[in-house]
Amino acid sequence: MPKYRIEYKRNECIGAGPCAAVDPTHFDIDPSDGKANLKGGKQEGEVWVLEIDASTKDLALQAADVCPVAIISIKEIKD
Ligand code: SF4
Repeated sequence: MPKYRIEYKRNECIGAGPCAAVDPTHFDIDPSDGKANLKGGKQEGEVWVLEIDASTKDLALQAADVCPVAIISIKEIKD
């Protein structure tokens, strides 16, 4: 099964919120600053990353699609 990686530039989030509405598995809104959190993600520099498998990839793609500032991307992890 291929693995995927969500990459999320939290510092550019404008807090619009649709990512968490369509993909509550991976995103929720932080009440402290109104920005989305990548649930279980790790920070690498200015990007938050989370490895996922194919079973939740479509959800993550929906989050990427609805983000108005296009700061969520999904990449396939090559072996
Ligand atoms: S949709 Fe994009 S801008 Fe809106 S809360 Fe989610 S990551 Fe932030």
